Amino acid sequence: MLLSNNSLAVNEKGNLTIGNCDTTELAKEFGTPLYVVDETVLRNNCRKFDSSMKAYYGKGLVIYASKALNCMEVCRVVADEGLGLDVASGGELYTALKSGFPAEKIYFHGNNKTEDELVYAVKSKIGRIIVDNPTELARLDKIAAELSEIPKIMFRIKPGIDAHTHDFVKTGQIDSKFGFALENGEAFEAVKLTKDMKHLELVGLHCHIGSQIFDIDPFILAAEVMLNFYLKIKNELGMEFTDLNLGGGFGIKYTDQDDPKEYNIFMEKVSAVVKGFCEKENLLMPFICIEPGRSIIAPAGITLYTVGAVKEIENVKNYILIDGGMGDNPRYALYKSAYTALLANKAGVAADYTATIAGRCCESGDLIAENIQIQTPAEGDILAVLATGAYNYSMSSNYNRFPRPPIVMVKDGKARVVVKRETYEDIIRNDI
Ligand SMILES: *Cc1c(COP(=O)(O)O)cnc(C)c1O
Repeated sequence: MLLSNNSLAVNEKGNLTIGNCDTTELAKEFGTPLYVVDETVLRNNCRKFDSSMKAYYGKGLVIYASKALNCMEVCRVVADEGLGLDVASGGELYTALKSGFPAEKIYFHGNNKTEDELVYAVKSKIGRIIVDNPTELARLDKIAAELSEIPKIMFRIKPGIDAHTHDFVKTGQIDSKFGFALENGEAFEAVKLTKDMKHLELVGLHCHIGSQIFDIDPFILAAEVMLNFYLKIKNELGMEFTDLNLGGGFGIKYTDQDDPKEYNIFMEKVSAVVKGFCEKENLLMPFICIEPGRSIIAPAGITLYTVGAVKEIENVKNYILIDGGMGDNPRYALYKSAYTALLANKAGVAADYTATIAGRCCESGDLIAENIQIQTPAEGDILAVLATGAYNYSMSSNYNRFPRPPIVMVKDGKARVVVKRETYEDIIRNDI
């Protein structure tokens, strides 16, 4: 079984536990579907990244990419661990600021930030705004001038390396909706333009090459591409940047097939490359940011469901019908993402049954997993889907007007609600 960061275990009753809480008791107390996040795993993951940044590179900041799971309590824990925070919308920024997250450690991303969002970010004096394109650059310049502010900005660059899961391609690809292209001179021209902009301070460049990446080489290549561009800018424009943001995308173990590298190896190698390059080329050693999202929060979370019925279709397949689905976890419907699932109240017995897990939305594609091995199911069993901390709650919807599940945070045998379950009242809240 997949044990994420030693958070999960099986107790003497044969029930799955998380953070020393019996999951069947959690299901009883808080109802299902239920998101559960182990605070200890979340904190340990923050520390793992932070300590490896300190050990191998020194001056840098680990920034949690909050789109993976953004709610006020997660923001508070991340702030308490000393990390920075990525936000990708006004709503994520609002949540962070309301939670008391230090504004100077907030980084604002997005490929089409609206005027309102930019005004909000500038007025809030957040740490960095990562500008995506020339139109946005002009929009932000105007806003900053009107507000008499000088926000620190970075540019999102397409380094021409596209990495997803098991392989990566060095395409020099320009076809992405994110960022400034290098090869056609767009990025260089934009950097040049900022020399005369009195209300924007360009402190460095950013790249983010993909997600759920297991290989270290694409990160190294991306760092080299960025540093070579820093060198060109220094030589041709006389500008030197203080910051370099290398993005996130580190892979995690969803199933036994996944084999992510220890994060330390990444930081060790990337640090060596950056330090070596800067020494050789006499470049300022930049303050480095990395932006893990999934790898910080995904392993900390599980989702609990109640089995409503088992539908055995002879010579076709067996469906386990659960009380959630694509509304609370759209990742299988979107990308056929693989998950590990088990029956929490039968965690001690063998998985000798083949089943497809289906939700209750009016869509045949409303599945969580297909043809997986699991314990023999029955009505009333509690199904646990593992490693759902990232891109589940944050991608959830009210399709079919199902209320969203709550988030319960567990720690050392204690559980507390950090996001309440939606009610039918919430469902009609904005209806007139
Ligand atoms: C999504 C995103 C991340 C985090 O990606 P993960 O795969 O969750 O680590 C980091 N930076 C940017 C700009 C992103 O869009």
